[in-house]
Amino acid sequence: MQHEFYRDTWVEVNLDAITHNVKAMKHHIGENVEIIAVVKANGYGHGAYQVAKTALDAGASILAVAFLDEAIALRNSGIHAPILVLGATRAENVDLAIKYNITLTVFSLEWLYEAKQYIQKDTINLHIKLDTGMGRLGVRNAEDLASLMTFVSGSSLFAITGIYTHFATADEIDLQYFNNQYEKFLELIDSISHENILVHCGNSATGLRFPGKLFNAVRLGISMYGLSPSLEIKNELPYSLQEAFALQTKLVHVKKVPKGTKVSYGATYEAREDEWIGTLPIGYADGWLRSLKNSEVLVDDNRVELVGRICMDQCMVKLPYKLPVGTKVTLIGKQNNERISVDEVAERLDTINYEVTCMITSRVPRMFF
Ligand code: PLP
Repeated sequence: MQHEFYRDTWVEVNLDAITHNVKAMKHHIGENVEIIAVVKANGYGHGAYQVAKTALDAGASILAVAFLDEAIALRNSGIHAPILVLGATRAENVDLAIKYNITLTVFSLEWLYEAKQYIQKDTINLHIKLDTGMGRLGVRNAEDLASLMTFVSGSSLFAITGIYTHFATADEIDLQYFNNQYEKFLELIDSISHENILVHCGNSATGLRFPGKLFNAVRLGISMYGLSPSLEIKNELPYSLQEAFALQTKLVHVKKVPKGTKVSYGATYEAREDEWIGTLPIGYADGWLRSLKNSEVLVDDNRVELVGRICMDQCMVKLPYKLPVGTKVTLIGKQNNERISVDEVAERLDTINYEVTCMITSRVPRMFF
């Protein structure tokens, strides 16, 4: 929801970009492959509800989240589409999943034994997770899969509506490990009957690179937000992605300081000449981490440098000239011909773009356009 806010720092989410990215994937993979929009972690920091609604309108038919809590929050905000929980759910909460009509992931027989005790009535919809090489969650061999299938087929409490796996290296140039996982997935699903259920193995990278290997659904995360799954494959994408995330703030104080003036904690920065210094109301408690010190932001269409240590709620920027309080400062996004991409910030932090949008905390309001 879009709440009123009183601070001068906000995230702008371009929902038209989400629409473009979903439609482009749909066009790329064809009508017969369903899109499962992955909106876990508050839609990778973009806003789960708004992204979910936009993705569904653009052609996604299912949503996926990491935890039951995220699924219930979506239901409570009025989302009626099918929702799959990708992570582990406590067996004792299976009745809640039934109540909210949420599909859970099953990855062990033990979980089924336990869950059975907690189902009062009705049926829980389940997707089976296979571990073909990710080493995280999943049934690892045909024998365990057969035991699981035998258990559920004798019970009206469980309905298997899907089966899936997750690739560890779909975004890498070297495809050997990916191919091994794919082969293992084929072998495992072929050991059971899987007609009329959803079969999915692909994340964004798989969807972008191997549309013919998706079975009947793709789990679309990072590329729905307009970001490449990795730098390795960024230059070989089959269509252009539109970045949806921008991080904006405003100058709240501007002053001229004489050469030699120190700025921020530790007095580590010293003005090299008489300088215009601006103060920005964003800091590490917003997810704008201390290690982003010395990075660049956009002001009045110029790239300028942050100076001194980043504080909890504020940081300072060296301005090219005097600018009025209230001037917009773009930390991620575009100003005219200049752009600071999520990837650029990720590179500075020696991390991946996924982490950058997720790390901007809930203290920063999200605005939707
Ligand atoms: N499927 C699972 C199980 C995931 O954990 C994720 C994301 O981490 C996705 C799909 C989406 O992957 P991507 O964001 O690379 O599209």
